[in-house]
Amino acid sequence: MLDNIEKWIDETLEKYSSQRVSCKLFAESFKGFYPEEFLNSSYFVVVDEIPKPNFPELYDMGLTDFIEMDVDGITYKSTYFIKKGFESNHRLHFHELVHVLQWQLLGGKAFIERYIQEINIHGYRNAPLEEMAYGLDSYFAAGNKPVNVPAFVQMKI
Ligand SMILES: [Zn+2]
Repeated sequence: MLDNIEKWIDETLEKYSSQRVSCKLFAESFKGFYPEEFLNSSYFVVVDEIPKPNFPELYDMGLTDFIEMDVDGITYKSTYFIKKGFESNHRLHFHELVHVLQWQLLGGKAFIERYIQEINIHGYRNAPLEEMAYGLDSYFAAGNKPVNVPAFVQMKI
């Protein structure tokens, strides 16, 4: 199952590869939070509808709410997708970049496995990987002084 999800993700990333935009455009806004090299190798795609896998097996795994939930953004590996209209929402970009770091630190399959497990146990909003991203995006949105997000995520994950 994890293999199928990862395959779907890789195909989706391939499909949108020509539309992706480099996050280096946030170098100034996220200075001190995210290193430039990290932003240079992270991407986002603006879409009308957020692509999500919807194999029948996922419903069997208890992910119905997650699949049907209306989200503004989602991260797959080093690329995240955001809904049209949210392009200038820096807090959302910041949030998704936390997930890019989590994907990198855990690796593809381990991220997927852990994310699904957390959603099943805690629900979407209280899943620890989400809590971490929400905590950091609210810290950023409140105008607090920069913290090194990769170091923080590495310590907390
Ligand atoms: Zn999130």
